[in-house]
Amino acid sequence: MPALIPLTCPTCHAGLDGESEQVVFVCPQCAAGWMLDDAPGAPVRLRALTIRYAPELRGSALGRPFWVAGGQVQVGRRDVHGRGSQERQAVEQWATPRRFFVPAFKCDLNSAIDFGRRLLSEGPRPPAGSAAPFVPAVVPARDLHGLAEFVIVSLEAERGDNLKTLRFALELGEPELWILP
Ligand SMILES: [Zn+2]
Repeated sequence: MPALIPLTCPTCHAGLDGESEQVVFVCPQCAAGWMLDDAPGAPVRLRALTIRYAPELRGSALGRPFWVAGGQVQVGRRDVHGRGSQERQAVEQWATPRRFFVPAFKCDLNSAIDFGRRLLSEGPRPPAGSAAPFVPAVVPARDLHGLAEFVIVSLEAERGDNLKTLRFALELGEPELWILP
């Protein structure tokens, strides 16, 4: 059982309402964004979170929250069956820092990878709209790293050179939450 802690805004002490699985809160009084930090073995606490909203979030449809972090991939080793390894292309493609996205709302692994691939290739810029309601974020930010690794593996597996093993390192910066249509 997770410990029950009173959720109040660390800035203005207003109560933060949310569903039981929710990991992100927006203060109804001062509009600050907070994420639940419940790393195993550490006391549960709230950490300040930057939330950016797409400008086109208007009307009745709720926005969808995505974890976003800048990342750098270093391809260590890429073994393939047979010849024609595209290791050089892989190293070149990942040489530039990228922005990784994964859904923070509830969705299955395949959909999460699809969203992650699409947004990685589209590379949207940080949105600067005004605050709008969004569906609850229930995926903890610490899952971003593992899901982003899934996205990288799924892209590399499609290179067409019969990938056998792939070793790489992924370094991610501080996560933000983007609310997209
Ligand atoms: Zn507040």
